[in-house]
Amino acid sequence: MPRYEYRCRSCGDTFELSRPMAESADPAMCPEGHEDTVKLLSTVAVGGSASSSAAASGPASASRGGAGGGGCCGGGCCG
Ligand SMILES: [Zn+2]
Repeated sequence: MPRYEYRCRSCGDTFELSRPMAESADPAMCPEGHEDTVKLLSTVAVGGSASSSAAASGPASASRGGAGGGGCCGGGCCG
């Protein structure tokens, strides 16, 4: 019967349980009685580098031309 390792998130303790593989995903209770446990991967994990490339595409910065005053109103010819 395979042994599975669990870790209690309440007290931080790790413990092993021998249980059928079909019950490996069942919640395990900490020896202290806590139910907030997580199953640890006791088997050799297949190494893999998960590279998450977040392509941050910022908003296209449209180059605005400076608001240039019309040559007319600047010189007083409009009034
Ligand atoms: Zn515990």
